[in-house]
Amino acid sequence: MQLAANNPELKSWVHVPTGSDFPIQNLPFGIFKTPYLSAVAGVAIGDYVLDLVYLHENGYFDGLGLPPGIFNQKYLNDFIALGRKTTRAVRNRVSELLRADVDELQQNIAAREIALIPVSEVQMQLPVQIPNYTDFYSSEEHATNVGSMFRDPKNALLPNWKHLPVGYHGRASSIVVSGTNLHRPKGQIKLPDSDFPVYCPSQKLDFELELAFITSKANSLGTPISTGEAEDYVFGFVLFNDWSARDIQQWEYVPLGPFLGKNFGSTISPWIVTLDALEPFRVGGPLQFPHVLPYLAFEGNKNFNIQLEVLIQPGAGEATTVCRSNSKYLYWNINQQLAHHTVNGCNIQVGDLYASGTISGPSPGSFGSLLELSWNGQRPLQLANGKTRKFLEDGDTVIMKGYAEGNGVRIGFGLCYGKILPAV
Ligand code: MN
Repeated sequence: MQLAANNPELKSWVHVPTGSDFPIQNLPFGIFKTPYLSAVAGVAIGDYVLDLVYLHENGYFDGLGLPPGIFNQKYLNDFIALGRKTTRAVRNRVSELLRADVDELQQNIAAREIALIPVSEVQMQLPVQIPNYTDFYSSEEHATNVGSMFRDPKNALLPNWKHLPVGYHGRASSIVVSGTNLHRPKGQIKLPDSDFPVYCPSQKLDFELELAFITSKANSLGTPISTGEAEDYVFGFVLFNDWSARDIQQWEYVPLGPFLGKNFGSTISPWIVTLDALEPFRVGGPLQFPHVLPYLAFEGNKNFNIQLEVLIQPGAGEATTVCRSNSKYLYWNINQQLAHHTVNGCNIQVGDLYASGTISGPSPGSFGSLLELSWNGQRPLQLANGKTRKFLEDGDTVIMKGYAEGNGVRIGFGLCYGKILPAV
């Protein structure tokens, strides 16, 4: 399927710097604020944000059947709930307005001045109100590493792992937008040489490199979504840092799974890159064996070739890349995740967030968490400033990047970053 807005030949009259995540072929949606505007919807292009409220109020979307005020809201939920046909039409129309060979907005200097806002003048907000958040565990390499570390390298994967996409219900209220700083969490920790737990700041604070999708459509309670239908429910993707306190997690997680080691904060990138923009970057996933149950079977390429990176920037120092991974490694794809999530009749909602689980690749440099990169602290990482890290220290900023690249086009996510402040 070739979408008009994805044509690699397209050029914009807006200057897009080399290496930008936001060429005319991307056009991700987000919510932004300026000192003189309340939070409204926009689209990223190069180093600018295009104000969708202004375009809508001035007739640039006439004929698309958009409700009045649809972009003049602090979340994108109502817009994405209009459905793929409408959101695709808006992206196509924005693409047309930004094309170098189309004069309509380009030649209207007054409109351009108002509609295009330099990214340096905006403050990005959480793009959707998230009713529910689920975290999967879909990387075989990650699950194998963790199983090897804490259980048995010979039986690293639990018996269920290759039969279903393991997941748990996370906490939606503490999901924050990139740029939000978080305090080191405190909690119960049981040190190995003690019989009793202590209450103190986490000493094993970690990141998890993940990709998350956001849903645009609800199913009714009791009605499963099939793997074939699943993508109709997906609006797009964001980068996701599932910050994790390993020591709190290790003591609390049996038998019901992650809780306070996870729910003190999770960070997402502010721009939702649409499923449409990622169409050209579909790839097949790993071979699944043993064969999955029929409700998890799927057809076609359901993985995406998205390069992922994690950098750690200590307090006042240079950032060091500590991980390079790729979402193509994920064993379970989003169609299977959504089909499994709803096979019992569970209802999903507009704006829900579904995270992949830590995305680790096959080589040590591609592991998506410090737990794996430092092998639970046994192999400290070297940073550019000469210091080492087993886990995160106060003042560290974790920066995640992601982009798909091909045919001279780079579809990127922008940054997903956050700084760790001392415990309070
Ligand atoms: Mn996770």
